[in-house]
Amino acid sequence: MSKPQVLQIGPLSERFNRTLAEQYKVTALWQQADPLAFLCERGGQFELLVSSARFGCSAEQLACLPNLRAICSFGVGYDPYPLELLRERGIAISTTPDVLNDCVADLAMGLIIDTARQLSAADRFVRQGQWLAGNYPLTRKVSGKKLGIVGLGRIGQAIARRAEGFAMPVRYHKRHQDPSSPYGFEADLLALAQWADFLVLACPGGAATRHLIDAPVLAALGPQGILVNIARGSVVEQSALVAALLDGSLGGAGLDVFADEPEVPHALFALPNVVLLPHVGSGTQETRLQMEELVLANLQAFIDKGELLTPL
Ligand code: NAP
Repeated sequence: MSKPQVLQIGPLSERFNRTLAEQYKVTALWQQADPLAFLCERGGQFELLVSSARFGCSAEQLACLPNLRAICSFGVGYDPYPLELLRERGIAISTTPDVLNDCVADLAMGLIIDTARQLSAADRFVRQGQWLAGNYPLTRKVSGKKLGIVGLGRIGQAIARRAEGFAMPVRYHKRHQDPSSPYGFEADLLALAQWADFLVLACPGGAATRHLIDAPVLAALGPQGILVNIARGSVVEQSALVAALLDGSLGGAGLDVFADEPEVPHALFALPNVVLLPHVGSGTQETRLQMEELVLANLQAFIDKGELLTPL
């Protein structure tokens, strides 16, 4: 039997690319000299597409894929896909939810601790020999502090469960109150920011949440408050964040995601109360393997039964 055809938009790990190519007849779009011209000419032959939260699939690309039936995406987040268009055309799409909750939530707690206790900055202090000249300044306590979570979904709930171990009171903001949640709901984001010591973002990116965290929210969080973003860079108005950190009106920030990755504002590099990570929320060997396996399982389920395992 011939292998099913799959279009792959961008490269994933070598292991994944190899496994995919063993099981399917893969066309690697990024290896074409002119990817869009290739799609316009040959796009009609593809029913199945593999992509990721990084590469997505644009409306322009979709227009050249008239027979597409399913997209299996690596990572969580539908923001790089034109969802309305997919709905209109009845194209199924899956991501890799749940398997990454632990790692992203672990990282959020790591960012809270690192930003408040300045672990990274204190490590630089030791390496640069500065300890020989005196002690590191005092930092801020973590345990018992008030934690506000924006977006109490799969990852947000995993963060909240971890916060219980740190005796943190937790409140959350999202569009719909969850009556079964043990945590307090706050319909007003400004009020949540005012209440919280740490405000963690765990909502989706995309147009609906663009610049949800703006200058007034940052001002409400205040000079003792810390913002942690493991969601998407687009959720925060980055220029307002940089300004608030530089003038001290925000206490600190732990950031895994940025507005224009991999560009990171240089103005933040010298600040000890800011931790900058290169979008590594799910980036452990164990979790990335599970994410890869889930992409492959979704693809095979669609081929076998016409249904994705983890659809939108
Ligand atoms: P999820 O289970 O779908 O949860 C999303 C949560 O956000 C829900 O509670 C939802 O509740 C809330 N929400 C949606 N729109 C909102 C809005 N406009 N304002 C406030 N809250 C809103 O998603 P998840 O699996 O937890 O993932 C969350 C996000 O984390 C992903 O979309 C992705 O962007 C990010 N992420 C980052 C990394 C990383 O490497 N840093 C890794 C994985 C995921 P309502 O519907 O009630 O509003």
